[in-house]
Amino acid sequence: MNFRRWADGALIGVTDTSPAFTARYGAPYNVVHRAHLHAALHQQAEALGVRLRLNSKVDAYDVENAAITLADGTVFSGDLVVAADGVKSLARALVAPNGQGAPQPTGFAVYRATVDVEKMRACPELSWILDEHNLNLWIGEDRHVMTYSIAGGRSFNMVLSHRDKGDPAQFRHEEDILGDMRREFDGWDPQLTHIISLVTKALKTPLTSGTAPLPTWLAPSSKLVLLGDAAHAMLPYMSQGAAMAVEDGAALAVALSKLTRPALAGIESASASASASEFESVSSPASSHHTHQQLRFALHLFQQERIRRTSMMQEASLVNSMIWHFADGLLQRARDEAMKGEVQVTTATAAAAAAPAGQKGAAAPTTPWTSPNQWSDPVTQNWAYGYDAEKAMEEAWERGASVREVLVGQW
Ligand SMILES: Cc1cc2nc3c(=O)[nH]c(=O)nc-3n(C[C@H](O)[C@H](O)[C@H](O)COP(=O)(O)OP(=O)(O)OC[C@H]3O[C@@H](n4cnc5c(N)ncnc54)[C@H](O)[C@@H]3O)c2cc1C
Repeated sequence: MNFRRWADGALIGVTDTSPAFTARYGAPYNVVHRAHLHAALHQQAEALGVRLRLNSKVDAYDVENAAITLADGTVFSGDLVVAADGVKSLARALVAPNGQGAPQPTGFAVYRATVDVEKMRACPELSWILDEHNLNLWIGEDRHVMTYSIAGGRSFNMVLSHRDKGDPAQFRHEEDILGDMRREFDGWDPQLTHIISLVTKALKTPLTSGTAPLPTWLAPSSKLVLLGDAAHAMLPYMSQGAAMAVEDGAALAVALSKLTRPALAGIESASASASASEFESVSSPASSHHTHQQLRFALHLFQQERIRRTSMMQEASLVNSMIWHFADGLLQRARDEAMKGEVQVTTATAAAAAAPAGQKGAAAPTTPWTSPNQWSDPVTQNWAYGYDAEKAMEEAWERGASVREVLVGQW
């Protein structure tokens, strides 16, 4: 991942996503088209027997009865509503009334666009960017441009972030947006502005972020829980918003797997093999109370772990809105100087790899132990990518053992 100077594209920072990264974190750094991620999750959910109903707007939540009412009047009820209804969440108001912890305008907006790769290939001075199979990020005063290929290299994605305190309702029409976008990056690296000139359609989106963690993700009844952007909207400057939503899902599954009785309606109906006596015991008032206590406890542990993790990611994303956007001057020079070590290591490693066998690795400097580039800084990087959401939830469960005994009794 290459960090480039706004004016001329000079390399000022490098986050190494080579096989060493994959070995360190057990997975490669991949970028994926949103629609393809949805398709993969959809496919997997169906394979696991989950029944899905699409194109169904939720008009109302009933947090006392774990029920939802759809726009067509259909009501569904169960034991728990998991509300992942995004940054404009309807459910959030039921959890945190008075707008507490709701996402706030950040003063930034993005243009989003994809570029026809054939058009880029037709320009010899641009084709290297496709061949490199990398992320390239141009950073400058108050603005940056993130670029990478998606869809197996068939499309080139651009996110162009800039200052905009305007009212999103007043954002201009599509044709105006293209002109505004070009003007915003006028005078930047000619290669970048050349790519921008190839864009024929762009969307403009305001960026909001939670500025303090939501105090809770749970309705007082513990029958509705938020996750994803509904709970922790953040600037996309660590590229971790969707990643956090996926982690939430994995952690919630671990927490719910600890329930010793089939507490959820979905589990009941799916457990065709469960004996009738098990269900009877669930529906008796005493055991249903016990089951609800278990659910409440599991959800509290879940939110404790996840609020900590996601609010730190919100903060890290806000920090990048400062570090990446320095105007040319003292702070910018200090940042670039401190990131220089990353570039030297990468350049030296590439040179060593290209050198005749006997000379390999001769004078390669070692990776710097710290960097203002949060994506490369070893401590921040390990925190961001070395975190295992399922393991962390298991550990939280172990730590909660003694409290569990007191609050819920025999599990
Ligand atoms: C420019 C930009 C770049 C980004 N880049 C990255 C990145 O590189 N990596 C990354 O991890 N994240 C990235 N993100 C963040 C990521 O897009 C979000 O964090 C992620 O989409 C959140 O997922 P979610 O499921 O919580 O919410 P959403 O994706 O917003 O999904 C919520 C869904 O709920 C539906 N919904 C809302 N209300 C209702 C209702 N009443 N009834 C029924 N349905 C409803 C919505 O239609 C929507 O489909 C980026 C964000 C932006 C803006």
